[in-house]
Amino acid sequence: MNVAIDGPAGAGKSTIARLVAKELGFIYVDTGAMYRAIALYLLDSKTDIEDMNALNAALNNININILYDNGVQHVFLNLQDVSAEIRSEKVGNMASKTSAIKEVRDKLLSLQRDIAEKNDVIMDGRDIGTNILPNAELKIYLTASADIRAKRRYDELRNAGEWPDIDKIKADIIKRDEQDMNREIAPLKQAEDAVLIDSSDMSISEVVDKIVDLVKAI
Ligand code: C5P
Repeated sequence: MNVAIDGPAGAGKSTIARLVAKELGFIYVDTGAMYRAIALYLLDSKTDIEDMNALNAALNNININILYDNGVQHVFLNLQDVSAEIRSEKVGNMASKTSAIKEVRDKLLSLQRDIAEKNDVIMDGRDIGTNILPNAELKIYLTASADIRAKRRYDELRNAGEWPDIDKIKADIIKRDEQDMNREIAPLKQAEDAVLIDSSDMSISEVVDKIVDLVKAI
């Protein structure tokens, strides 16, 4: 069984998908983490992403592996576990830029399809329902207002002991949405057969229950 969850940054996809996976005994696949791992490499290696030769050379040096430990996904970049390092805003913003590049997307396509073919998965990203798993048994488009998404991200960072600027967070979210929705290849959009869930006024458990019910009804 394959469940696809797409939606804009900060809509709660990973939190929700992780909980749904736990409840159903599925594997949760966070595809954003794969794009982030590539972005981390490109940042660290100071690759000029406008230079196709340099970009292709860098991509040839990148090996992404996904392993699961007690159901938790770990992303390995050239055999190094970068799961924590890729969570920064800097890496997220770079991932949004570099994920628009065809060569970057091509590199991850078969890895994602392969995991879905071999396992019951709930996979989150931007183009899962539209492009990666067009035959997924269930597709969800999870969204929330930009204000709510910025506030959630702000609370998350505050809880981690940081003092973030909420206006900057909101501006970053809007910029990322724009980049992800307007790129030429695999833009973020709701698949025609996806169920739309706006979580602005819903609790996490309400969204989880709704998706679990939808899966059980299949
Ligand atoms: O979901 P997350 O914020 O970790 O994703 C980081 C970036 O990776 C997104 O802004 C998006 O540009 C890109 N991405 C993508 N396709 C996916 C998952 C993520 O383009 N399936």
